[in-house]
Amino acid sequence: MEVTLSLFIISFFLILSSFLNVVAIRIPKGESISFPPSHCVKCSHRLRPLDLIPIASYVLLKGKCRYCKSPISIIYPLGEILTTSLLLFTYFQTGLSKELYVALPLVALLCTITISDLLYQIIPNKVNLFFFLYFSLLHFYYAPLPYTDYLLGILAGGGLLLLIALVSRGGMGGGDIKLMAVVGMAIGWKLTLLSFFIASLIGGIVGFILLVTKKVKRKDPIPFGPFLALGTLIAYFWGVELIQAYLFFILGY
Ligand SMILES: [Zn+2]
Repeated sequence: MEVTLSLFIISFFLILSSFLNVVAIRIPKGESISFPPSHCVKCSHRLRPLDLIPIASYVLLKGKCRYCKSPISIIYPLGEILTTSLLLFTYFQTGLSKELYVALPLVALLCTITISDLLYQIIPNKVNLFFFLYFSLLHFYYAPLPYTDYLLGILAGGGLLLLIALVSRGGMGGGDIKLMAVVGMAIGWKLTLLSFFIASLIGGIVGFILLVTKKVKRKDPIPFGPFLALGTLIAYFWGVELIQAYLFFILGY
């Protein structure tokens, strides 16, 4: 029974992550997620079910299209591995509780926008809007915090990044601003501020390393979405402990 259930859960997350990856790859290009059916981006050859097994197909085909042999971006299988692992991690971290209504969609959102941002430097409006509506309705049914905390979250996430965008004149993309408004609606203003703080910290360190090792030039844009996603993930799962540790070590109580 245990084995059957585990297999079911793993297959469910594999299929879900495959779907989220299709969303991440197609929506920014203005394509429909159902039509045309899965095809090679180079030769447009329609892919058969055997070419579409998550992760396994990529390994078996050695990263090349079966039909035209052109290389397939490593972001596709990595995106699926990342999404599946994070969904599984979330499930084990949260357990079977109502919090899964927040946790799974939040992780789904973060994975989807990370892949889109890495591939195209776009965080799609449609994805942001979908999850914004979802979380604003969900919190009428299930909300660990007062509803006002979520409304303030929109302000804390979206407002703060908008302010930075205005001050820095384009240092922050519109997609980043909207994403953090959605995160605010999902987890409330306190954890949203922490998410942004962690994202800036990690983004700053990584940006600095990339500059010093000459992987990027000063003017090269580095997509900030993946850092916002990582910051949000850390704040969501360990935020309370981080704040407690901070207060304890820095302020002594
Ligand atoms: Zn091809």
